[in-house]
Amino acid sequence: MNAEIIAVGSELLLGQIANTNAQFLSKQLAEIGINVFYHTVVGDNEQRLEDTIYQASKRADLIIFTGGLGPTKDDLTKETIARVLEKSLVTDEQAMRSIEMYFEKTGRTMTPNNRKQALVLEGAAVLTNDYGMAPGMAIEVSGKRYMLFPGPPKELQPMFLNHGRAYLLNQLAVKERIESRVLRFFGIGESQLETEIEDLLEAQTNPTIAPLAGDGEVTLRITAKHESLTEVNRLINESEAAIMARVGEFFYGYNETTLPSELVRELEAQKLTIASAESLTGGLFSERLTEIPGTSQIVKGAIISYQTEVKNQVLNVRSETIEKHGVVSEQCAIEMAEQVMSKLDSDIGVSFTGVAGPGTQDEQPVGTVHIAIARKNAKTKAYLLQLSGGRQAIRMRSVRYACQYLLKE
Ligand code: ATP
Ligand code: MG
Repeated sequence: MNAEIIAVGSELLLGQIANTNAQFLSKQLAEIGINVFYHTVVGDNEQRLEDTIYQASKRADLIIFTGGLGPTKDDLTKETIARVLEKSLVTDEQAMRSIEMYFEKTGRTMTPNNRKQALVLEGAAVLTNDYGMAPGMAIEVSGKRYMLFPGPPKELQPMFLNHGRAYLLNQLAVKERIESRVLRFFGIGESQLETEIEDLLEAQTNPTIAPLAGDGEVTLRITAKHESLTEVNRLINESEAAIMARVGEFFYGYNETTLPSELVRELEAQKLTIASAESLTGGLFSERLTEIPGTSQIVKGAIISYQTEVKNQVLNVRSETIEKHGVVSEQCAIEMAEQVMSKLDSDIGVSFTGVAGPGTQDEQPVGTVHIAIARKNAKTKAYLLQLSGGRQAIRMRSVRYACQYLLKE
């Protein structure tokens, strides 16, 4: 089976957004063995969309649309497909009920436009939208399969993973179970990680291991297939164990997690509270933790001690330390962490002092960062980083390193 993905939306052609839906779907289809031969992008224009549908129907067995399922006038994917395929649009009762429920819940008034969103192609299998109103669809017409997904990635991705994929596997009469697990690493570069597991990457067939780098971290996606789910899991576990034996020290979590959320989970489990003394990060550490719901039991607070005076007078970093070592120093970081822990009465104190740039400080190069972690009844630990990148990257990576240190200790 070969596929074409048609993304509908003028904002894609104008360069206002990138076609990440096609990227996502292509990866997913590759995983279940469907070849994607074409990516097409077309604006919100009925005639050109119609031409695109005719063309795709000639050259692909599976045609997947994204976008244009919404209630507004420029959303015309469904209507145009209905016309080309000579199908009528009928109200899907279940979709209608969930739209009505959404309006009831939010107290907003429903407009006739919203009713339009419950219309589906007659005879189509409906793909439930768990995160929005427009349902997706899958239908076979004259031996060709058509699937319709909403534009917003937050709606499309779970719809594909929870409903669309199963539909396709069923159509393909695939009896195999295909499962993936993503391992996330921090503090190791992509090339180093690949070198460490080079032989595993070369030998892979089932499971496959796909590395992906971005945003200062590296992930490995392990995908295995087998008729039995138990065997799929065994294959994945085996592969994971082999990877962990090499680079386990850099691993921090599975699938869609982040370092701050792993840290929050860990602190929650251990019933520990934390406070931060932040200089170059300016509160970013505390921001990253508190944006996760339910952290009020964990985060005590933060003291943003940006100027030397504040480190000295509010955090009581000793004048002697500042004169002798400077504020970008291990000793200053240690005192900041210990002081914030005692002042805010937390179980853990973490501190950040360093040079985010662009200017240097105390003759220290940009990217020099000291992090200290104080814990009750334990010796305070200090870490020195030499980070590269711009100001924001240095600040962000300092926060992530601190999370990693806190998790690994
Ligand atoms: P809505 O009900 O939100 O209007 P829709 O199905 O009509 O959904 P569009 O109006 O085409 O979808 O797009 C809505 C939003 O989804 C866009 O503004 C954009 O943010 C995102 N989006 C649409 N198409 C893509 C795409 N191909 N890749 C990534 N994001 C997309
Ligand atoms: Mg829309």
